[in-house]
Amino acid sequence: MSLPQEAKLKRSLVTVIEGPRLQVLSRPNFTEEFREFLSLYGQVWKQSELSTPAERLVEFAGRVCYMSFSRPAPRNTTEYIRHLIIQGHESVLEHAVWSFVLSGVSRAFTHQLVRHRVGFSYSQLSQQYHDEEDAQFVVPPEIQNNPKALAIWETVVASAKEAYRTLSSNLAASAKHPKGTKMHRESARALRSAARSVLPNATATAIVVTANARALRHFFRNRGSIVGDLEMRRVASLIFSNLVADAPALFQDFDVREHEDGWPIMHHRASHDVSK
Ligand SMILES: Cc1cc2nc3c(=O)[nH]c(=O)nc-3n(C[C@H](O)[C@H](O)[C@H](O)COP(=O)(O)OP(=O)(O)OC[C@H]3O[C@@H](n4cnc5c(N)ncnc54)[C@H](O)[C@@H]3O)c2cc1C
Repeated sequence: MSLPQEAKLKRSLVTVIEGPRLQVLSRPNFTEEFREFLSLYGQVWKQSELSTPAERLVEFAGRVCYMSFSRPAPRNTTEYIRHLIIQGHESVLEHAVWSFVLSGVSRAFTHQLVRHRVGFSYSQLSQQYHDEEDAQFVVPPEIQNNPKALAIWETVVASAKEAYRTLSSNLAASAKHPKGTKMHRESARALRSAARSVLPNATATAIVVTANARALRHFFRNRGSIVGDLEMRRVASLIFSNLVADAPALFQDFDVREHEDGWPIMHHRASHDVSK
């Protein structure tokens, strides 16, 4: 059954985004000032040559707890951090912090993401201050790969976008306050709040995330391998892939594999199994 002409026209309104994007904005740093601290305490610390700044920061914090810098240390940084993880001494991992921006993700996804409260900070594109007339939409691959389902999805999403535009202009036309006034700005916010109520879960958004390694580990464990939540799985794997090189030791018990459905899935080895 072919779609009516009107529906086809509507579908051309939709700009579809096929996957999440991520840019890292800041990474953990470790300055040379630690040397001053060590000399104050008469400590000497032989660092592992191949460790990264994030790993050194975590090892430094762990060693401050026991002032164990000078003790003969048979463990390199990776082994030291593995021991912290096995012991459950993961608060030390909270010192390693990243900021990154996600885009090409759906509002449905970010609603789930922001449930992660501890060790995460968020700044998300506002649908009250930002006009969504040109909103884009994230298509689930299950729909993208099914022409009939895609036709229905595009038609419905395009209708929602058109409704948003119509509501926005109708509500703006009935606004009473002169442009440039505080009341006008307030009523613009109110009308966007009203108009956005018709936008779907698939509406694309952008969100800046700041998170520490411990919180990220919790997120990867809980969210990285849910077979039935493809967008979450893709984003978790994307975050992992972008950060892991900064601190392989902090995520040494995780990896990303290809699931039988062809999409990435995270794998976590239990802590007693971490050395494998
Ligand atoms: C498979 C799956 C299905 C889900 N289904 C639903 C659903 O149907 N409905 C729904 O609403 N949510 C659902 N969620 C979301 C889930 O309940 C959590 O809100 C989300 O995963 C964030 O996890 P968290 O609270 O552990 O994370 P964070 O908020 O980052 O907390 C991290 C950890 O800190 C501790 N903590 C945080 N806050 C408190 C507190 N107030 N008191 C005590 N300890 C605390 C806990 O140990 C917690 O694990 C689901 C999650 C998953 C993974």
